[in-house]
Amino acid sequence: MTAGAAALRRELFGTQVHAVGMAGALAWVRARVRERRPGYVVTLNGALLVQAAHDAVLRELVNDAGLVTPDGVGVLVAARILGVRLPERVAGIDLAIALCGEAEREGYRVFLLGGEPGVAARAADALRARHPGLLIAGVRHGYFAPEEEPAVVEAIRQARPDVLLVALGAPRQERWMQRWLPVLRVPVAIGVGGSLDVLAGRVPRAPAWMQRVGLEWLWRAAREPRRWAVVRTIPPLFFMALRERLRRGRLDSSPQA
Ligand code: UDP
Repeated sequence: MTAGAAALRRELFGTQVHAVGMAGALAWVRARVRERRPGYVVTLNGALLVQAAHDAVLRELVNDAGLVTPDGVGVLVAARILGVRLPERVAGIDLAIALCGEAEREGYRVFLLGGEPGVAARAADALRARHPGLLIAGVRHGYFAPEEEPAVVEAIRQARPDVLLVALGAPRQERWMQRWLPVLRVPVAIGVGGSLDVLAGRVPRAPAWMQRVGLEWLWRAAREPRRWAVVRTIPPLFFMALRERLRRGRLDSSPQA
């Protein structure tokens, strides 16, 4: 699958995304852990896609990732408008949960980084309750100053995880992974946003039916009003996709010189 990731690479407005579902994402992680070849995973939602389309530095953060999963209906709908086939939504929280099941079976060591003090430890307890054989290599909260980063990195290196869940929020977690993964000696790091808050039981997840019909964003925005700022980026995403599609259509139908 690692070699296959290149074949599954697609682009939306110059930003990469891979045409993988959950099974493909897990296969990518397995291959990287086996090869001990470092790579990070971005779970791309519509807000991050819009930002990346306008910001070359952010775009590079996403394009440097070994795997980018489509997280969010905004990305799936924009892809559909652009004629890019993506199999399913692979949200950070679902990937984190599935990965911990895999880690228990395969004996991977998992490190949890991020959230307010105490949150990662509570998330670790919840994960261990669900997967009694899971090896938690360590936990660390996500509120540290830039000058503390080398110490955080050293603590993670000492813990020797196979998989690092980085829950610092986007795009800080992507910046952090790009900067530090080369020295961490960890094969796989995954940016999982607010997932530790959900695992720790601090923030409830949307009801399953809302997740199924693609309305998880509405649930989150209703609970946390600051998220309306994120929701407001989605209509422009559709207009961008429609404009791009119309532009391509015009190019296709323009007379050949
Ligand atoms: N966070 C952190 N350090 C920071 C800022 C944020 O660990 O300096 C954590 C925060 O506690 C929360 C997560 O990052 O657990 C961000 O969650 P959010 O749901 O906002 O992320 P998103 O899913 O929108 O990227």
